[in-house]
Amino acid sequence: MAAPFVDTARITVKAGNGGNGAVAFHREKYVAAGGPDGGDGGRGGSVILEINPHMSTLMDFRYKRKYVAGNGMDGQGKRCSGKDGEDLVIKVPKGTVVRDAETQEIICDMSETDRFVLARGGNGGWGNKHFATPTRQVPRFAKAGLPGQERQVILELKLLADVGLVGFPNVGKSTLLSVVSKARPKIANYHFTTLFPNLGVVYVEEGVSFVLADIPGIIEGAAEGAGLGHDFLRHIDRCRLLIHVVDVSGSEGRDPVADFEAIQAELKEYGSGLEDRPMLVAGNKVDIAADRSGLEALKAHVEALGMPFYEISAAAQMGTRELMLAAARQLEHLPPITVYEPTYVERPPEVDTSQPLNIIHEDDTWIVEGPWLQRLMANVNFGDYESRNWFDKMLRQSGLFDRLEEMGIKDGDIVSLYNLEFEYQR
Ligand code: GDP
Ligand code: MG
Repeated sequence: MAAPFVDTARITVKAGNGGNGAVAFHREKYVAAGGPDGGDGGRGGSVILEINPHMSTLMDFRYKRKYVAGNGMDGQGKRCSGKDGEDLVIKVPKGTVVRDAETQEIICDMSETDRFVLARGGNGGWGNKHFATPTRQVPRFAKAGLPGQERQVILELKLLADVGLVGFPNVGKSTLLSVVSKARPKIANYHFTTLFPNLGVVYVEEGVSFVLADIPGIIEGAAEGAGLGHDFLRHIDRCRLLIHVVDVSGSEGRDPVADFEAIQAELKEYGSGLEDRPMLVAGNKVDIAADRSGLEALKAHVEALGMPFYEISAAAQMGTRELMLAAARQLEHLPPITVYEPTYVERPPEVDTSQPLNIIHEDDTWIVEGPWLQRLMANVNFGDYESRNWFDKMLRQSGLFDRLEEMGIKDGDIVSLYNLEFEYQR
């Protein structure tokens, strides 16, 4: 049996930590006391998403759940910087939507963006060579590197197709795709044959073509998760136009109007506005329709709803070209394929500021370190006003400034927090 189609995955990504800066002093024959020459730590590698146009499922993410980029190396003496950690590049199929696992917010849509930094590597710490000043000639300290970001995300594949085929199993969707494009989906006379979505390019005429998607059949109750179809509706989410295929032959004793309405109800149930998507209705299998009553009833029904109706025989290739021409004409006036805008808002982490920070005082500099501060700084975007305010609030809340006052800090002294330094002002 073929492996099941995988179109969602939950993974953890961890960027590399920055290496620590070095404390070292220059030593040379005949030079009594050399200056500080400890190099910087290397930057941690980032985790990067990249589109691979040849991938069509998220199968690779089924067994491997954790993706870790390389750590930066520590700095060394003689001003040697540590080596940067290696980036980790994760390949995803085009159309993968990435969400935050906790909030479900969209982080990015890998359909127009080819490359996206999903987790930033930590900055390397400064070596003591940075800290030599006229008043501070023998800096015996260096900075620790910052940790890389870690996050949990959900990958969700939403195919990129202009037109999606919907309808009950066995109505002829795969047959239709196969006669209008070069796609060769499985076709068989039993329900649930299609397990994988199939895409085909329909060439209408010189310069006019579109992508048509055949998804596994929707069955009643699918939108509540009862059947196979539910999961697959995500693949028509982006479609600009739907073609609803209904079997009007009466060969299985089905009522075309009832079938049509059942599928419309499923689309509505799915809850992302699929029922309002522009739609053409195709009454299929007219070649074996014993009488035209079902066909006529459906035609009247959908035309009353304002939808264009086409009678076709996919197997006999009757009316299929007209249907594709009609689809192409509609597409001319429809907006492009949906690309999801990010909704994710970066939030600095909640940290427990009650853990005391370690303060080192050298000359006019106050070096402050501690696990929560390190974690906070790795995740604050200092380019963003809100984030900076949050950072400021956390520092005040921790009582750091009161402690520095008690220890005798003066205006104009340097407060040094990992890769951030500022002059203290009361
Ligand atoms: P799907 O489940 O909707 O993808 O349906 P398929 O394309 O797999 O077709 C189901 C069955 O209906 C197959 O046996 C097809 O050969 C048959 N079929 C599809 N279209 C037509 C048609 O226009 N006329 C007739 N007579 N049979 C058809
Ligand atoms: Mg099929």
